[in-house]
Amino acid sequence: MAAYDPDNIFAKILRGEIPSTRVYEDEATLVFMDIMPRAPGHCLVIPKTPCRNLLDASAEQLSAVIATVQKMSHAVMKGLGADGVTIQQFNEAPGGQEVFHLHFHVLPRHEGDKVGPPGVMGDMAEIAAIAEKIRAAVS
Ligand code: 5GP
Repeated sequence: MAAYDPDNIFAKILRGEIPSTRVYEDEATLVFMDIMPRAPGHCLVIPKTPCRNLLDASAEQLSAVIATVQKMSHAVMKGLGADGVTIQQFNEAPGGQEVFHLHFHVLPRHEGDKVGPPGVMGDMAEIAAIAEKIRAAVS
């Protein structure tokens, strides 16, 4: 497996070198909105420390990230009135990974909806408005 690249896009987001719509952070994790949301409220949970994915993550990184995934799942249920939550996580390019800093996708789901296609830029004003609702619901 390749080494961690400190210039990947999420590392730049962590360092504040490129903008992101942040919704939550604690000592070990950061959550921000996906700019190509596959569902309204699609956000990404990452560890603040470097690792490519599940395969090289430490138990500490994984447990911190999963605790935040659960927290955000509750937040989207409450803040967006979601009926369910889909969690996605991809490892290495053949496994569907495109950005090589560990991340979990949190997709709020509503009864009867369908996950949208990948690679479609979201409306940034709409993303910001949804982020505000999620932020307000994080406990
Ligand atoms: P992966 O396939 O690696 O699990 O997914 C990477 C995710 O990162 C995709 O859902 C994609 O929309 C998202 N993404 C890619 N570039 C950026 C970016 O610059 N900012 C944000 N917020 N999300 C990004």
